[in-house]
Amino acid sequence: MDHASRPMLLAPDQSGIALAAQILRDGGLVASPSETVYGLMARADQQEAVAAIYTAKGRPSFNPLIVHVADTAMAQRLAVFDERARRLADAFWPGPLTLVLPLQMGAAVAPSVIAGLPTLAVRCPAHPVLRALIAETRLPLAGPSANRSGGVSPTRTEHVVASLGDRVDAVIDGGTCAQGLESTIVALRPSGSWQVLRPGPITEAQIAAVLYAQSDAVCSSAIEAPGQLSSHYAPGKPVRLEATQRQDDEFHIGFGTVAGHANLSPDGDLAEAAANLYALLHQAADADHPRIAVAPVPDAGIGVAINDRLRRAAA
Ligand code: AMP
Ligand code: MG
Repeated sequence: MDHASRPMLLAPDQSGIALAAQILRDGGLVASPSETVYGLMARADQQEAVAAIYTAKGRPSFNPLIVHVADTAMAQRLAVFDERARRLADAFWPGPLTLVLPLQMGAAVAPSVIAGLPTLAVRCPAHPVLRALIAETRLPLAGPSANRSGGVSPTRTEHVVASLGDRVDAVIDGGTCAQGLESTIVALRPSGSWQVLRPGPITEAQIAAVLYAQSDAVCSSAIEAPGQLSSHYAPGKPVRLEATQRQDDEFHIGFGTVAGHANLSPDGDLAEAAANLYALLHQAADADHPRIAVAPVPDAGIGVAINDRLRRAAA
């Protein structure tokens, strides 16, 4: 193995996953594709391994991490599930929904994963490569997006390499992420209330339909998921939203009939737009134009999550 060339690029096959699992068991960092974005994975039970995530990303230590598990049984060893949590897991796992739940007593989770909170964010992912990696490692994996803190999230291997370089030991090259937006995060409070902390591929309406209790939802203005900070996903240039026309110095990201230099979805398909969003923000960041303009995107379905990310990119 050539230790001089980092990060190691691994194929998403059995031998690549076996090697990645070994690196993780040894406390290293592996970037893995998921159905949402690429994740920067480390074993969640080891403090030094988790600390390496924060160092590699330049992530503030008060920003806790999502732990990825193989199934609900593994999740229940880490977090306390009530009836609502079980229903949501049954409905949406494996998939892009993160549950914020009370930490299980004695859970084998390094303290910096939860950044001092009494709760744990846990998700059972659907991507076959990440599922195989968790199964092979036989450990819960802490994994934020595989990019430097505050930047645009990666949906392709080259985005990971460009952002993290040799700060990550290995990258499993799994092609382009299907959903392209981070998971929906929902907090279930012991009081019985619940709250979407970050909009994502699973909509609030879908969650409410499973919980049958949208009237219980409380709205809190406190920033409980630092992904909610107003500036995030920043492409490093000014971003103008709702732009149906472009100015000369702008790289124009189009949607539907607003063509742009590159188009999120010429057919106006919001799922396709979500999958393409970060790749086009990376492309716009790399273009010669000093500024970025983005066409209007309807605020419905997964469009809510797209507009959430766009507002933060523009902040
Ligand atoms: P990322 O860095 O893209 O993986 O985002 C992870 C998100 O999960 C961040 O916004 C965190 O603040 C949020 N998160 C993780 N753990 C918790 C928790 N216990 N309570 C609330 N939010 C959390
Ligand atoms: Mg992130």
